[in-house]
Amino acid sequence: RKPISRDSVAVIGLGRFGGAVAESLVRLGHEVLAIDERADVVQRWGDVLTHVVQADSTDNAVLQQLGIGDFRRVVVAIGTDIEASVLTVLAVEEAGVPEIWAKAITAKHGRILHRVGAHHVVYPEAAMGERVAHLVTGKMIDFMEFDDGFAIVKTRAPGEAIGKTLAEAALRTRYGVTVVGVKRPDQDFTYARPETAIHQGDLLIVSGPTLKVESFAAIT
Ligand code: ADP
Repeated sequence: RKPISRDSVAVIGLGRFGGAVAESLVRLGHEVLAIDERADVVQRWGDVLTHVVQADSTDNAVLQQLGIGDFRRVVVAIGTDIEASVLTVLAVEEAGVPEIWAKAITAKHGRILHRVGAHHVVYPEAAMGERVAHLVTGKMIDFMEFDDGFAIVKTRAPGEAIGKTLAEAALRTRYGVTVVGVKRPDQDFTYARPETAIHQGDLLIVSGPTLKVESFAAIT
């Protein structure tokens, strides 16, 4: 079989999450090997993805045949069937894949996946739930949190900053957050500078410790 390029990714499980991962990888220019045990799923994805294989990923021999051990990155996107998810991560780990990403449904599921060899465990439902909580209650228009308690949000400019420059508004001193960019309606984002003036209706991209960013977004 032809050698696998370093950029190739194997995605196992083409449910809603795995399908979105595989589709995005293709759009970003990566070669994707997708695996699902269901014939109808494999058929449905056949048009979108170039390599879709119907196989049971809990079977080490099958994975070996597919050359999983040659991939640098594998995403295990099986969620609901915890047994299949765990056995698949184990089999992929035994094949020697250096970078295994796995989707977990619960924290306990995630702990098992770490134990059996997943290097990165993601919780798509929990993560999206937290994001939506931020968006639905506050003035945030978008929210992204990093592992280490640091966040970036898009939010409306607070009333007290309107008509001032960023230097005059002194949001860093007052709220402990940094304005990274400013967007005026119908214009592109510009990088924030001390002399950037804030107008009514402006959107700000603000970064800082999550708690500070949350309090800042609450005052706007
Ligand atoms: P989502 O919630 O993202 O839709 P699911 O857990 O419902 O995720 O979907 C997982 C996908 O993984 C399904 O399409 C299912 O057919 C597939 N799958 C489950 N077990 C195996 C397995 N042992 N081998 C290959 N694919 C599997």
